Amino acid sequence: MTTSQTTAINVPLLDLKPQYDRLRDEITAAVHEVMESQYFILGPKVAEFEKAVAAYTGAKHAIGCASGSDALLLALMALDIEPGDEVICPAYTFFATGGSIARLGAKPVYADIDPVTYNLDPNHVRELAKTCKRLKAIMPVHLYGQACDMDAFLALGKELNVPIIEDAAQAIGTLDDTGAQVGTRGLIGCFSFFPSKNLGGFGDGGIMTTNDDAIAEKLAILRVHGGKPKYYHKVIGINSRLDALQAVVLDIKLRHLDQWHAGRKENAAFYDKAFAKAGAKTSEYPLSAGGFPLRTPTPAKAPARHIYNQYCIRVPAEMRDDLRQHMADHKIGTEIYYPVPLHIQECFAYLGGKEGDLPESEAAAKETIALPIYPELSTEQLAHVANTVISYITEHAAVKS
Ligand SMILES: *Cc1c(COP(=O)(O)O)cnc(C)c1O
Repeated sequence: MTTSQTTAINVPLLDLKPQYDRLRDEITAAVHEVMESQYFILGPKVAEFEKAVAAYTGAKHAIGCASGSDALLLALMALDIEPGDEVICPAYTFFATGGSIARLGAKPVYADIDPVTYNLDPNHVRELAKTCKRLKAIMPVHLYGQACDMDAFLALGKELNVPIIEDAAQAIGTLDDTGAQVGTRGLIGCFSFFPSKNLGGFGDGGIMTTNDDAIAEKLAILRVHGGKPKYYHKVIGINSRLDALQAVVLDIKLRHLDQWHAGRKENAAFYDKAFAKAGAKTSEYPLSAGGFPLRTPTPAKAPARHIYNQYCIRVPAEMRDDLRQHMADHKIGTEIYYPVPLHIQECFAYLGGKEGDLPESEAAAKETIALPIYPELSTEQLAHVANTVISYITEHAAVKS
């Protein structure tokens, strides 16, 4: 293949079409069945899917809801979180993690991350917990599809006498260091079926897992405005239900999920190998320590499993945005997750957070960039992405030194 042909390869950050193409007939039939039944909200199809998720994760209960954001909100509502209560969560995450806490009038207490895994740092959580007066929960995130240090958080939760709510929105099928599915060891696991997650619906959807019978029942009541029986309300809930149309689509996709995870892992291994050959390191930190200025994600050691909802590389801040433009010029889609950590988002100014408070979150926000990783990428596409990154960094690192 000539160079000009290589540069013509188009690599979107995510392309859901090939997955749909393969499942079209099966999905169309299932959607048609729901349309014929005219049973759209909750009902038997949702119950079936909830059972399938419980079986897949190994959790005792799975309760569907309208989105991953609502799963977090409902989980906190199930703990009776009140205005003024405190919940510790990472600052380097999707907005919903902190937003769900603030929505209840509670105070998100933003903690820093481990710079190697990008996951919530248990040591910083322990430190911050000492300053809390009304700590009610710790909410770690399994960011990018890699498990956080669940052993450490479960021990901390025990020590501080607060539950662990897992934001597993990006991590269905992720295994932690003990080989357990995420969302099954904390009190509640919260998952999202946003289309770009590894298990994505045809719109919004979410689910909560728990092994606690009382919590499961509470979650099921809270998602229907708190009514049980219908029209009799002991508590105030919200309207957050999973649709039957989403449930049948997700149920079909769930059967392929492990295979898709494996495809992402293979793609990650391709990048890892290509970048390592160019001199990139996995976990050495910081970038300024020298060598080729590129860090690849820390692969999970079995029995853990990283499901690579995102594959984020790390480059010097002064190169990052220019690299992104360079990738775009070569028809490669990338994304910045997340450009502004939550403690310095404008809407959280009232909490008094400022630049410099959480250095690792701030550095990650300036230095990371997500590459295409979806399972259907061809070897040519993967090579094009890897080569484009490597040639850019080689050229710019040489200019610098
Ligand atoms: C996607 C996501 C959510 C929210 O899920 P939605 O289904 O989009 O509401 C929450 N937390 C994290 C970390 C996410 O990535």
